[in-house]
Amino acid sequence: MLAVSRVPADRQGRSRLKAFVFFVFFAAEAVHKAAMEKKPQTLPDPADFAHVRNWVFDLDNTLYPHHINLFAQIDKNMTAYVQELLQLEPAEAKALQKQYYHEHGTTLQGLMLNHGIEPDGFLEQAHAIDYSALLPHPELGEAIKALPGRKFIFTNGSVPHAEAAARALGILDNFDDIFDIVAADYVPKPAGATYDKFASLHRVDTKSAAMFEDLPRNLQVPKALGMRTILLVPRNLDAVLMERWEKLTDEDDHIDYVTDDLTGFLTGLNIR
Ligand SMILES: [Mg+2]
Repeated sequence: MLAVSRVPADRQGRSRLKAFVFFVFFAAEAVHKAAMEKKPQTLPDPADFAHVRNWVFDLDNTLYPHHINLFAQIDKNMTAYVQELLQLEPAEAKALQKQYYHEHGTTLQGLMLNHGIEPDGFLEQAHAIDYSALLPHPELGEAIKALPGRKFIFTNGSVPHAEAAARALGILDNFDDIFDIVAADYVPKPAGATYDKFASLHRVDTKSAAMFEDLPRNLQVPKALGMRTILLVPRNLDAVLMERWEKLTDEDDHIDYVTDDLTGFLTGLNIR
């Protein structure tokens, strides 16, 4: 089901978005479905994207949907790493891992700052996962290929992880480059310096760019830099299991569009 919502700038629009967000993240599934069906199913306005020549995609839960849940495997690996490093019980290791994630944006950044770990080994262990849940998605590949200009993956993960995931989806060859946590000097999104580094490294004029992300906080800087911002939301209400700080808040003006269907959204741009 294609569900795309334009977020108008007027107050009425904001209240409609808040109602939509409430249903997506808080309501029971039946209520959620009813709300999605009642919501006008609008396509993106191609005119909003006519100037875009740099297409920037987050990887996890953006280029593949949230319900694939690759992150559960990564999460388990990170907990095991923390447990082994600090000789903790599993529950203690998990709590510390989450604490670092909340305080520093990634578990890795917390481990580097507090324990001086060497990042390459951590990234390798964290991303030693089974990618078989990701199936080739030729329609997505075609939709990305059709976009005019350059296409990037911009991830808080590593290049090997991004390559493995994009390769499994059959879309790797459609990207010009991957900007990862190593290129970001291990400072994760949403830090402003990391977006600046991405833009200067790849000579991206952010006013001619669009960014696709599943975490609302990671779209604040892109919006401030003049990018079009598109939030990917889960199709089903497993979103209620998402951590509270990852949900939309009242400060939602930085999100231009909300969609649960990346391929449908890109196809809806009607680019030939
Ligand atoms: Mg993501």
